[in-house]
Amino acid sequence: MPARRTTVRDVVVIGGGLAGLTAARSLGSRDVLVLEADDRLGGRIRSDDRAPYWLNYGAHLFGGPASPVGSLIDSCGIETLPVEGSFTAMAFPRRLVTGGGPTTILRTAPLPLRARIAFVRSGLKILWHSREYQRFTTSLKNRPPSEVNRALHAFMDDRTFAELLGPLPRELDHIYRAIANRAQADPEELSAGAAMSALALVLTKDRALGRNVAGGSGRIIEALAGQLTCSVTTKAEVSSVAADHGGVTVAYVDGDGPQQVRAHHAIVTTPPHVTARLVQGLPKDTAGALRSIQFGPSIVMAMLTRERRPMPWDGLYSAVVPGKSFNMFFNQANVLRSRERSRRAGGSLMVYASGPLGRGLMDRSNADIRDLFLRDLYDIFPELIGLVEEVDLQCWEYATSYAHSGRAALQSALDRDLGRISLAGDYLGAWFADSAVLTGREAAAKVERQLAEHGSRSDRDRQRSTESWAGDP
Ligand SMILES: Cc1cc2nc3c(=O)[nH]c(=O)nc-3n(C[C@H](O)[C@H](O)[C@H](O)COP(=O)(O)OP(=O)(O)OC[C@H]3O[C@@H](n4cnc5c(N)ncnc54)[C@H](O)[C@@H]3O)c2cc1C
Repeated sequence: MPARRTTVRDVVVIGGGLAGLTAARSLGSRDVLVLEADDRLGGRIRSDDRAPYWLNYGAHLFGGPASPVGSLIDSCGIETLPVEGSFTAMAFPRRLVTGGGPTTILRTAPLPLRARIAFVRSGLKILWHSREYQRFTTSLKNRPPSEVNRALHAFMDDRTFAELLGPLPRELDHIYRAIANRAQADPEELSAGAAMSALALVLTKDRALGRNVAGGSGRIIEALAGQLTCSVTTKAEVSSVAADHGGVTVAYVDGDGPQQVRAHHAIVTTPPHVTARLVQGLPKDTAGALRSIQFGPSIVMAMLTRERRPMPWDGLYSAVVPGKSFNMFFNQANVLRSRERSRRAGGSLMVYASGPLGRGLMDRSNADIRDLFLRDLYDIFPELIGLVEEVDLQCWEYATSYAHSGRAALQSALDRDLGRISLAGDYLGAWFADSAVLTGREAAAKVERQLAEHGSRSDRDRQRSTESWAGDP
């Protein structure tokens, strides 16, 4: 068959989540194709507008203007709102403990004396180490992202959260398990450093994640996608990414069947276990490291409510929920309350079961999970009965990665230079959406450097490939 004339893209970006879209936007002047398997962009950032509220299913807390996501959000002209409500509430059946942080919990939580004593002992340890974590992260400011990732993963990586806490009475074990499950693992699996990172977010005054997007986080994705000048194809599932001397061949399946595209570079932003399968010829240690990244699931239930009066959750943003079918409760509408002259009717809530708790529910039907979550929610907040008017569930099998003890040893294999293929995605770092943005930007900058350096050769390749390579759509 005679070779069909075809073009060679500068870059193919695989995955249209935050990392992929950030990379594509940074490569604005290049010929880029984004391939996304799903029928929507955004990956684990998803919300549905229900003005004046929104339903949220994924990421919802972001840093201020100095943070990677914060600066991205600002550059897109999106409004963020500071979270004014409590982050440290704890919901026991028929008792909501909120207001003043760990000391209030200690004073008012329904815990027996031995659990209170253990709470003080473990609480002091946590406060000390989470402040140490905070100081450590401050000392890393202005260092290159890859160095920061390595340093953060090495922080208290030699022991688990359970080892740090020591033996606990049952009532306290429930609480710490719910907290660790928020970071996707049981205390026996989670590294002590990862637990400190999660706890520092709520315990330290200078909160790294303290802003919510007015109208829902999906607005970040809409704005990013709206600014892209490149081609974007959804419902395009990539099955292989193979580099050779002259470029990269990406095979995928879209609505028209199997396709192939050729490019000078590829940026792969898929979850690590998918990346290990897609990228051909990976060094053994890199493939092994990708497969060793641990993820936990989250089953998220987003709700719109129709109350016409103030509610007990108005002043809080999040609550840990020990011993129930879900471990976290969020009041998305909290960010609107401080701006209202009088409380607007209605609201938006979100609960989720994450880590081992979520995994235990994965086989249940959506209707079952909804009933279970609502029953437990009504147990904590009887005022909510009859007020839930819309419910939607989102099951994330791979919600967020967590650092197990020993995770730091994987980083050098993940940071390895793979030539024409670059990896990006939150799992490479320790700061969730911030890591997605940072690694997306870093991958784009590396590709940009390579394209600039080999520009003339690339142009020759492009010319040669245009004449001889068949298969580009
Ligand atoms: C419930 C929940 C709450 C969260 N809360 C927060 C928070 O408050 N703050 C925060 O900072 N972070 C939070 N996160 C994490 C945050 O959402 C992620 O860090 C971020 O969205 C990751 O972006 P990404 O681009 O790295 O990955 P993803 O968003 O997962 O993007 C990867 C993309 O690749 C696509 N893909 C997969 N396989 C293929 C294939 N074969 N071919 C083509 N495309 C493919 C996927 O469909 C997806 O769109 C939360 C996550 C969840 C689930």
